[in-house]
Amino acid sequence: MRLYAGLLINPLESNFSKPQLEYLPDGCLIVNDTGKIVFVGTLTDASVRFADTQMERFENAVIMPGLVDTHVHLPQYQAAAVGTGELLDWLNTYIFSLEARFADEMYARTQSTQFFHDALSVGTTTMSVYCSSQHKATDVAFEEAFRAGIRVCMGKTMMDFGAPQNILFSAEQNITDSLAIAKQWHGTDGGRLQYTLTPRFAGSCSKELLTKTGEIARADGFRIQTHLSENPAELRYIASLFPEAASYTDVYHRTGILTNKTIMAHSIYLSREERVTLKAYDCAIAHCPCSNRFLQSGVMALRHSMSEGFRIGLGSDVAGGYSLSILNEAREAAESSKTWNILNRGQEVPTITAEEALWLATLGGAQALGLDDTIGHFKAGKDADFVVVSLENLMPRETVFSSHSNLVSRIVYGGAATKVLRTYVRGKVVYRAA
Ligand SMILES: [Zn+2]
Repeated sequence: MRLYAGLLINPLESNFSKPQLEYLPDGCLIVNDTGKIVFVGTLTDASVRFADTQMERFENAVIMPGLVDTHVHLPQYQAAAVGTGELLDWLNTYIFSLEARFADEMYARTQSTQFFHDALSVGTTTMSVYCSSQHKATDVAFEEAFRAGIRVCMGKTMMDFGAPQNILFSAEQNITDSLAIAKQWHGTDGGRLQYTLTPRFAGSCSKELLTKTGEIARADGFRIQTHLSENPAELRYIASLFPEAASYTDVYHRTGILTNKTIMAHSIYLSREERVTLKAYDCAIAHCPCSNRFLQSGVMALRHSMSEGFRIGLGSDVAGGYSLSILNEAREAAESSKTWNILNRGQEVPTITAEEALWLATLGGAQALGLDDTIGHFKAGKDADFVVVSLENLMPRETVFSSHSNLVSRIVYGGAATKVLRTYVRGKVVYRAA
């Protein structure tokens, strides 16, 4: 067993309409040899019960649960922070050619290695990942995730039209490949690696492919991840492809994609009916505010979705988003809630606080992925996925605003510049700052 002492920040098991954090200034986390949390509380209480446990104390740092990225594209990492334009043009100009390069196994491996390393370095311990459309490259991504020690739910991106031929596969081939990779990897290492059925979006998946995906998900209990209602031009494109559907959400409803294990990225332009349908199936939302601005997609009504009780996590959506940092997304979630108010004068809603944003970045993400029985906050019996964040380089270094909530605000607004000292998955160090 090992004891970690310092200032603990712990998201409380509240629901999405009232996210809250708990602070333990003299906090203590005790982790057993299998990576499970056995005690959370004060150091004073722990010192009586666990007197002989080896202790590691972090001064001028905070210990908090690992960050959860609920939506990210591995093969797009090389395009992060470059390019311009809106979604559909941007995919054609920058992204599809990059995804085609994953046919080269060596390239796929070096990219995967760098991707997972860099995610861990910014405090992400769990990722919901879209791999490229190639079977082998997805296999390689699982191998590298296994090696890196990160927790992933991921899958091969399925497409059977609407993209260059060299990254398209038939509906049947997509399903065959996905099931083969899932058979090899789903549940590996005690469930650290999980397979997610990953139809890219209705604009590149036939009805046949979507329908088959829904059937398998419901029969075998797999997660599904896809995109929904991201960008106005995309909405027009989907409406032209599926004239019989009442809405974008209805395309997924008709094809059986909606389940309580479905994670819908973006979900910006939803009608009342669409929200009711998604809520009825308890679909989760991956909110990707950096991407939504980078690609000029729109401003999601986050407060409204939280008030309606949707399970919502934050997603970097690299390379629509420009960085793997989920703290960047937390900052942007707070800031874009202000933008929503600016654009909707007279209908203002409470903005998202930094504490709420950090809750979304941790426990919120875990709930969105259905992993909150395992990760997302500190509680005896859960897995010890956590990060140690330095307070030394937060700006300004001395402040009269020294409350815990202001400390969280500085961590969140520091974004990617907030220094992560260590990242742990199941109590094992998977990243250590130089
Ligand atoms: Zn995406």
